Amino acid sequence: MKTEESAWPGRCGYITGRDRPWTGSGPVRGSSAVDVLIIGAGMAGIATALALLKRGVRSIALVEADTPGAGASGRNGGFVFAGYSLANDRLIRQLGRERAASLHGWTRDSVGSIRQRIDDLGIACSVNDAGVVLADWFADDQSLRDFADRMQSELSFRLEYLEPDALKKQVNSERYGAGLFEPGSFHFNPLEHVLGLADYLVSQGVRVHERSPVCQIVRASRHGETAWLVKCGQGSISAGQVVLTTGGYDRRLRPDVQRALQPIATYVALTEPLGERLIRYLPRPVAVYDTRFAFDYFRPLPDSRLLWGGRISIASRSPSSIRRLLARDLARVFPGLAGVRFEHAWGGWMSYARHEMPLLGQSADGLWFGLAFGGHGMATTNLAGEVLAEALCGQRERLDAFTSWQPVWAGGGLGRVAVQGRYWCLQGLDWWREHRLPARKK
Ligand SMILES: Cc1cc2nc3c(=O)[nH]c(=O)nc-3n(C[C@H](O)[C@H](O)[C@H](O)COP(=O)(O)OP(=O)(O)OC[C@H]3O[C@@H](n4cnc5c(N)ncnc54)[C@H](O)[C@@H]3O)c2cc1C
Repeated sequence: MKTEESAWPGRCGYITGRDRPWTGSGPVRGSSAVDVLIIGAGMAGIATALALLKRGVRSIALVEADTPGAGASGRNGGFVFAGYSLANDRLIRQLGRERAASLHGWTRDSVGSIRQRIDDLGIACSVNDAGVVLADWFADDQSLRDFADRMQSELSFRLEYLEPDALKKQVNSERYGAGLFEPGSFHFNPLEHVLGLADYLVSQGVRVHERSPVCQIVRASRHGETAWLVKCGQGSISAGQVVLTTGGYDRRLRPDVQRALQPIATYVALTEPLGERLIRYLPRPVAVYDTRFAFDYFRPLPDSRLLWGGRISIASRSPSSIRRLLARDLARVFPGLAGVRFEHAWGGWMSYARHEMPLLGQSADGLWFGLAFGGHGMATTNLAGEVLAEALCGQRERLDAFTSWQPVWAGGGLGRVAVQGRYWCLQGLDWWREHRLPARKK
């Protein structure tokens, strides 16, 4: 089966220190059976397998169309921070203060547990604990302070306010005013992370089948009991429980759930090594995003390259067009870096539901899903893995907390056009806000 991933011309430019392509249990061949089969070895699938293993489930297989992390989980910006794609203020409006605080708190716990697991399992993934900073694009310090106060009082979510001068000591750009630092957040090489976790799973006896695109899931009978039969090109696996974690890369296996998804692209590029120059612009190695809806995000890599990301679109773009767009964005923030060469440029598909919250649940007896993490997927996929594993082991309380967000139809092709239109409108609003506030408000 041809996945949408193969539509990407841009190979991911993360360096992993591995001299050979990742190999696990090999492609699926013949027929076999497991208790739990997970489709898609991105972070949602891997985290589900890890959480099941922790709960004593040992008969697990992961089936991946390419290699682990070939989708968004291995090609993202590497920011690990709290929250969902749905903005915190909207989460509070939808759920009320108490429930929103609890759901947000789970993502903060998830950031902490990802960080702890990296140490516990010795995953080499270039972690940088300098953390993540939100930088103010609109010269509107008061709004930023108000936001931090609101997050503290409504969600018990602590953000440290950085005066413009303090932010400048971390990010040397005239573009920004004040900033908010998120304690506990960090950034890392997401591809090394996901591959390291896949290695760990294999070492624990979990089958991780690479290069095995699933083409069909059907009901079958196994030893007189109904099970699911998951078919790949050269073989099949039957399982009592199946978990679908295919991100924005498949919408055909279970249309009843996947019709609720819109695959949305976003882009990343890596500069050439900048040496000492980089420290001039990023005196502290923080990861930065800004307060616009259509924000830029960037972070320094250990070898002095700058990772630059941004833009969303319903279309895949060529690496040269990604380079062109992101070079313009980079020069607006750091005019002194105009003209630096981007060595790599690539994109990836995120999956969004209309409500911008993850889709976690069960679509039939023994058929589970964990999808739609949008652009805020590192902490939330890990959380989803825990929540799904709890439910598979009979504890459904946290899964039930997500049932407010059902897989409602995302509008197909027209829905995609609407998403692009909304993005452009919000970009226009960013522009209006920027030009409406010419002087810094204190
Ligand atoms: C460029 C980019 C930058 C981002 N930056 C950040 C960031 O800095 N921080 C953050 O928190 N989030 C970020 N995100 C979002 C985050 O990466 C995603 O939300 C998250 O990785 C989604 O994980 P997933 O496991 O659901 O999907 P994926 O990682 O996409 O995994 C799905 C997997 O399923 C496999 N698959 C699909 N169909 C089949 C099939 N039929 N058979 C077998 N396998 C199949 C795919 O090959 C893929 O490996 C970014 C996303 C992108 C694209």
